[in-house]
Amino acid sequence: MKQDPPQDKFKDECGVFGIFGHPEAANLTYLGLYALQHRGQESAGITTSDGERMRISRAMGHVADAFDEASLEALPGHIAIGHTRYSTAGESRLLNAQPILIDCAHGQIAIAHNGNLVNAGELRDRLVRDGSIFQTSSDTEVVLHLYARSREHTVEDALVESLSQISGAFSFALLTKDRLIAARDPHGFRPLALGKLDGAYIVCSETCALDLIGATYIRDVEPGELLIISDGGLRSLRPFPPAPLAHCIFEHVYFARPDSYVFGRSVNDVRTELGRILAEESRVDADVVSPIPDSGVCGATGFAETSGIPMAMGLIRNHYVGRTFIQPQQAIRHFSVKIKLNPVRSVIEGRRVILVDDSIVRGTTSRKIVKMVRAAGAKEVHMRIACPPTISPCFYGVNTPTRAELIAATHTLDEVRDFIEADTLAYLSLEGLLRAVAPSGSSYCTSCYTGNYPVAIPRGEQAYLQLALKAVE
Ligand code: SF4
Repeated sequence: MKQDPPQDKFKDECGVFGIFGHPEAANLTYLGLYALQHRGQESAGITTSDGERMRISRAMGHVADAFDEASLEALPGHIAIGHTRYSTAGESRLLNAQPILIDCAHGQIAIAHNGNLVNAGELRDRLVRDGSIFQTSSDTEVVLHLYARSREHTVEDALVESLSQISGAFSFALLTKDRLIAARDPHGFRPLALGKLDGAYIVCSETCALDLIGATYIRDVEPGELLIISDGGLRSLRPFPPAPLAHCIFEHVYFARPDSYVFGRSVNDVRTELGRILAEESRVDADVVSPIPDSGVCGATGFAETSGIPMAMGLIRNHYVGRTFIQPQQAIRHFSVKIKLNPVRSVIEGRRVILVDDSIVRGTTSRKIVKMVRAAGAKEVHMRIACPPTISPCFYGVNTPTRAELIAATHTLDEVRDFIEADTLAYLSLEGLLRAVAPSGSSYCTSCYTGNYPVAIPRGEQAYLQLALKAVE
């Protein structure tokens, strides 16, 4: 029997990469996507251009499985964009993999998207009524239809016209046969960095992709900026009306790699600070601080530093578990967690253990981990979470369970503690989170902790959220 473990973490969204002006554009894009693998593991794709002709290759699965030497050799050219996908809108199948490449009156164009468009449903309905035929169920295709139908005369004007109609979260890498174009929504929900390598320009979701290929970080693509990179150099346009900033705070809490700089801050530094503040806010006597790997490692480091309680790896993660695995016929207790994590008895036995994790979503995994740690001989188990209770779903490009499935939305703190069977449970406060992430004032989206959405959420969802709240009451 094959089984996918239930979703007990928010799922990463997507990773985008683009490069202009390098003879090895496809190979470097492949490496860039490799570094961005954590942002999406369902499919990967690369589109290249040699200035005349565009080519594309996409496949389901991880980057390393999606491409081989032959498929990369079949992607010649000095310009490329790439994408790793975790579906946040549209099903998981090859047809929905990105980049999406089309040919229209403005010429060929390919698009790679990180984010989610909140008015995609409405736009799609309108376009379908007007005769558009959609190939995919992804929100991203809407942009291409708007672009193809634009009566503007230049690629840039048509693009500005189409992007001006969409609302929500977007960090785009777009490719025409002679241009790389990057665009970021005016709220700046998702990150997008600009770098340089040997005269070639690069745009990518996170700076860890620049590190891998030896490129230098220049700056972020600014919220609301449209960057056009061509043989003529780099041009920056600001075609959208300004809007309040709403960087996704969860990038710092969980999504981004700790070795990346996101929204101008080191993710490692922010995450460690979350752990320090968590220790200030929820001190408890214990013998050892153990992270729940990998996501709890930075937080546990900060927690141990401030509390003075030594940190040790009380749980070891098996990094080689795929999304699906064969479940044994014989019942094994806590199997779905055990396959990923194993306790280190010598660290845990006879000790009062503080477990530090980045978040609790449904609570089912935390419960299994607490039980496993107790079974390994812990005297006490104290759970500390380096973010506030997650109470509301995301509509801006992150795959989340419904509100009714978020344990903190449906249970009190004591009920969650009882459910996960910990001796004590504490979350970081929202003030603590903001103090660590944005000490000079909030420019962040915190909707998953507050339920206050900075951009109107899709039609139908408001009613649904109210119903979910009623069910919770
Ligand atoms: S709702 Fe949460 S996950 Fe979504 S953009 Fe806002 S902070 Fe990020």
